Amino acid sequence: LNIHTAAFKNEKGETEGFVVVMHDITEQQKLDNMRKEFVANVSHELKTPITTIKSYAETLLDGALEDKEVSVKFLDVINKEVDRMDRLVRDLLQLSRIDDNREKWFFEDTDITELVKGSVEKIKVLAEEKEQEIMIDFRDRVHAMVDRDRMDQVLLNVFSNAIKYTPEGGRIDVRVYEDGEWAVILVKDNGVGIPEEDIPHLFERFYRVDKARSREMGGTGLGLSIAKEIVDAHKGRIIIESEINVGTEVKIYLPSITM
Ligand code: ADP
Repeated sequence: LNIHTAAFKNEKGETEGFVVVMHDITEQQKLDNMRKEFVANVSHELKTPITTIKSYAETLLDGALEDKEVSVKFLDVINKEVDRMDRLVRDLLQLSRIDDNREKWFFEDTDITELVKGSVEKIKVLAEEKEQEIMIDFRDRVHAMVDRDRMDQVLLNVFSNAIKYTPEGGRIDVRVYEDGEWAVILVKDNGVGIPEEDIPHLFERFYRVDKARSREMGGTGLGLSIAKEIVDAHKGRIIIESEINVGTEVKIYLPSITM
């Protein structure tokens, strides 16, 4: 809190009153801290792959290149790390476009069931690799005004999280239904779950419950924050409930179109 005071004086120079201006700097400071933290996070996220790429490239130049098998392995690592940086930069650019209203939206009347089907189709190989079952229950035919590419992006993120954070042989339930004015997409897994104290932070940029696990899985820690921005742009809501070692439930509410 910044406090400025000024005294009112009459013509005799006697004090008649005071003006006190109180300026709440805590909000400003909070924003400042958030910005600093964000820059620190971005730098750290970029530094890790750069260090890896540098050391692998140096080892190759120092002679490892002679060994074909080793070379292929190292180049594969380098390639993956570049992919990670690429994902990170794309995510950051998208967030920045959304932040200053440069993201172009294309909303159209969309059959939510069809949309969800398409996204499941794209991601199901990842579930198959982990012998997970995706159970689909399309209860209601619901329509909403949706930017299909962006909503597909949200769904792919939520599905890939469900797959990533659920052990082999797990189960993922996907449901589409109508709840009053809302078209609801529910994605429920029986994976590792999220501790209660972390849930309020999940939509913060770079927030991860388990940093090592997320990085290992190739995550940027930006997926859910982008998902929330996109759902917000649809005037919708995204809600996460979870219980540790039981599973996680993500619900996306979109204003439905009555047919
Ligand atoms: P990431 O790229 O790390 O997956 P996200 O923004 O998509 O980033 O998710 C943020 C964090 O939320 C993840 O790091 C993970 O800890 C947690 N999380 C998200 N979805 C799930 C889920 N289905 N089960 C358990 N934890 C999850």
